[in-house]
Amino acid sequence: MAYTLPALPYAYDALEPYMDARTVEIHYTKHHQGYLNNLNKALEPYPELQAKPIEALLRDLGSVPEAIRETVRNHGGGYANHNLYWATMAPHAGGAPTGSLAAAIDRTFGSFEAFKGAFSQAAATHFASGWAWLAVMPTGALEVYTTANHYSPLMQGNTPILVLDVWEHAYYLQYQNRRVDFIQSWWALVNWEAVARNYNAALR
Ligand code: MN
Repeated sequence: MAYTLPALPYAYDALEPYMDARTVEIHYTKHHQGYLNNLNKALEPYPELQAKPIEALLRDLGSVPEAIRETVRNHGGGYANHNLYWATMAPHAGGAPTGSLAAAIDRTFGSFEAFKGAFSQAAATHFASGWAWLAVMPTGALEVYTTANHYSPLMQGNTPILVLDVWEHAYYLQYQNRRVDFIQSWWALVNWEAVARNYNAALR
């Protein structure tokens, strides 16, 4: 069974004005789909690998045959990262988290505003293509950091719960070179209910 593209949980134009419809459509139907296609092509001769969740492959790349390991790292990473990206955004979202996630953010970063500052700074200063993450360490601690290319926190033994795509394809049509403006707008799209579900699942 090949991996499939999860349905986008909203219309292409649902994230406007913060993220324009054309960006969402191209990003989802060309970039995300493209990573998926390349991943499935590489995995065709390995049905036993196709049977595993993509997260399991990324957590244990050493178990992936060397002949396709780099493809799984790059395109499997691209596939999984975009799955999380779309799932942690929503129309009419933003605001702030509540409950145990909010408490953990306050405890870790001092305040929600301080967390936003740290995440925005990491995303804005990441050089070239990559991703900004809020991830759960094996200890249960929260951490903000970035990765290059399509590398996932799963590859480091951590569990990502929120992600922002800072590849230029994520914002160039609407924001051109203004990555900082894109990051600022994106906060209005964060689906904190989904992030809290990811957080609780990561702690289990
Ligand atoms: Mn992308």
